[in-house]
Amino acid sequence: MSAASKVFEKVRKEGRKFLLEPEAKAVCVEYGIPVTDFSLVKSEAEALKSAEKIGYPVVLKIVSPDIIHKSDVGGVIINLRSTSGVKNAYKQILRNVKKHKPKAKIVGLLVQEMAPSSTEVIVGAIKDPQFGPAVMFGLGGIFVEVLKDVTFRVAPVTKDEAREMISEVKAYPLLKGYRNLPLADIDTIVKILLSTSKLVMDYPEIKELDLNPIMVYKKGAKTVDARIILE
Ligand code: ADP
Ligand code: MG
Repeated sequence: MSAASKVFEKVRKEGRKFLLEPEAKAVCVEYGIPVTDFSLVKSEAEALKSAEKIGYPVVLKIVSPDIIHKSDVGGVIINLRSTSGVKNAYKQILRNVKKHKPKAKIVGLLVQEMAPSSTEVIVGAIKDPQFGPAVMFGLGGIFVEVLKDVTFRVAPVTKDEAREMISEVKAYPLLKGYRNLPLADIDTIVKILLSTSKLVMDYPEIKELDLNPIMVYKKGAKTVDARIILE
């Protein structure tokens, strides 16, 4: 069985409604979707070891089946540049979670590579009761949240459709390099759209998928947060 199938089976067995971030990112990796390097840890000592291995700066996040929006409970601390930074953040996150969600079951903490900021895009998928899964694309931040500048295609998405999706959003010129923004690697975004389409076709139990944000660089991209919600 593939690593992704194992993840979905485990989540189903445990009766959970969403994948933990390390589970969702492991699924992404199997589908060739680039993500920030990550490692699940259970102690401060393990966190330091992982940070060393991943390379500073790092990000620390809470991993809990009871917490879907991690930053809402103070469960994300970014840009940690030293061992003391990691130690303090480790304690701080546990304190924050204890305060905001005292009953949350804690699986561990996620240490991950800090993705350098760049142009942010969002790739998503949502299951339409009539048409089945559809793939979404937009630029991150205000473009999606305020301007609703997004586009959809019913899965399976073809390569031509993926290219169309990218070029038809109003914010498209920003991907071509504008002012201080770098040129964005469009081919990598196309690949991510196709992989996402394949993923939601392979697992019809996916109700919602959210790669938000994806930092896109001149060459390559990094998914910073991945959310997969099941029916
Ligand atoms: P939430 O569950 O609250 O959505 P996220 O994992 O999205 O938590 O983290 C919140 C925000 O922190 C992200 O939207 C992003 O701006 C920033 N962030 C998180 N992880 C990273 C990372 N690895 N590199 C850079 N920025 C990050
Ligand atoms: Mg997020």
